[in-house]
Amino acid sequence: SDFLTLQDLTLAYGGTVAVDRLNLSIRQGELIALLGPSGCGKTTTMRSIAGLLTPKSGTIRLDGRDITRLAPSRREVGLVFQSYALFPHLTVFENVAFGLRLRREKDLDAKVRAGLATVGLSDFADRAPAALSGGQQQRVALARSLVMNPKVLLLDEPLSNLDARLRLEMRLELQRVQRETGVTMVFVTHDQAEALALADRIVVMRDGAIEQVGAPEEIWTAP
Ligand code: ADP
Ligand code: ADP
Repeated sequence: SDFLTLQDLTLAYGGTVAVDRLNLSIRQGELIALLGPSGCGKTTTMRSIAGLLTPKSGTIRLDGRDITRLAPSRREVGLVFQSYALFPHLTVFENVAFGLRLRREKDLDAKVRAGLATVGLSDFADRAPAALSGGQQQRVALARSLVMNPKVLLLDEPLSNLDARLRLEMRLELQRVQRETGVTMVFVTHDQAEALALADRIVVMRDGAIEQVGAPEEIWTAP
């Protein structure tokens, strides 16, 4: 029942090893938090899953397929960054439609509308990104990834640019979207409270290796 498997994964920048023989199995539909201090290798791990960094050794399998050396566009992996990187000159609708147009997908209008409905932005299709709040822009970025129907959605510190109140709101929103769509999600955070509140399982990383994996109640330590 393993859906996404990282096996003996070693990741390096030049000669400097950032992630050392990492092993991790994720089930379909799980919401996983990668938790750990800055520099422990979270982003590097996500990059390798997305195909932006080729492993020095080891394999990455997704849904029965070895994707270790597959081009990013062919992996069916979505990526949402902390900076939402929306196209400022395009409407919300066109931002969400962008990847679908590149793929020349059918039923584009319906897919974009469905994506916007999932993140609660049906009434904002014709707006410019600049006319939206930070939380709403983050939802557009989420919808843009979701409509591509990825097997795994990777979120790198998706909430860290938001203020405290919005961050709490978006936590619930992310969880709701994950439950509703059933998409497998892996998100990076250095915030233990965020990981505890959101994740089905938490992967604690330190110095390029996994220190602990468990459900929130197993990981929790008194502050
Ligand atoms: P984060 O901790 O949020 O992942 P960082 O501030 O560590 O981000 O890194 C920001 C950018 O700088 C990233 O693109 C990262 O790849 C790059 N970077 C981080 N560490 C180094 C380094 N030692 N040498 C070169 N680039 C680095
Ligand atoms: P995290 O996401 O947990 O903050 P990273 O994956 O960004 O950690 O970084 C892991 C290690 O790799 C750190 O030591 C960092 O300095 C290094 N690193 C990250 N990006 C680069 C880069 N582009 N070039 C060189 N070293 C990097």
